[in-house]
Amino acid sequence: FSPTTGSRRTGGRLIVLSGPTAVGKGTVEAKLREDHPEIWMSVSATTRDPRPGEVDGVNYHFMTESEFVDKEAAGEFLETAVVHGMAHYGTPLGPVEEHLASGVPTILEIDLQGARRVRERAAELGLDVVTVFIAPPSFEELKRRLIGRGTETPEQQAKRLETAKVELAAEPEFDIVIVNETVDKAAADLWNVIADEYGIPRE
Ligand code: 5GP
Repeated sequence: FSPTTGSRRTGGRLIVLSGPTAVGKGTVEAKLREDHPEIWMSVSATTRDPRPGEVDGVNYHFMTESEFVDKEAAGEFLETAVVHGMAHYGTPLGPVEEHLASGVPTILEIDLQGARRVRERAAELGLDVVTVFIAPPSFEELKRRLIGRGTETPEQQAKRLETAKVELAAEPEFDIVIVNETVDKAAADLWNVIADEYGIPRE
């Protein structure tokens, strides 16, 4: 392991995974989990209602607003956000610290704002963080994938593309960039980052 400062870690650094909208993060992540069930990924808390099929503790920790606000005041979140002006979302800090301390590869999948906030708070919390940006092969390819998905109206697509353009500009802020050419390749690249970080031999 490389030497770190202010660390109580036994394994590696906290892996913070982010990237622009429609880059295929979710698919890469699902492949990674399938291939490497030994990793641990943070489960966020939210005040929004569960959607059909969502399971408490698996997709999210669903809670009331007063529960959330109490936990926030008690410093139980690594970061929080209010999305669409209504629902609260947050990353519970305790489980992140516990998994890091036990040496389990510990991963947060979070939006760009969340990734920034985690980095801002890392020193204060004594967390060692490595940030990973999942990038599309090109803007054109991102556009092709977003349109090919066919789940949005042309107006929604245009809006998401504008958002994606802004988000792509965040790439230089990240420690590591993984280009999502194919899901298998990106998941393997991501695993290699994790393996190197946690001292696990690469495949
Ligand atoms: P959804 O309600 O569709 O599951 O998620 C809505 C938004 O909340 C997404 O953009 C997602 O990235 C964001 N989100 C989910 N969990 C967290 C979290 O723990 N922290 C932050 N900052 N955003 C989150």
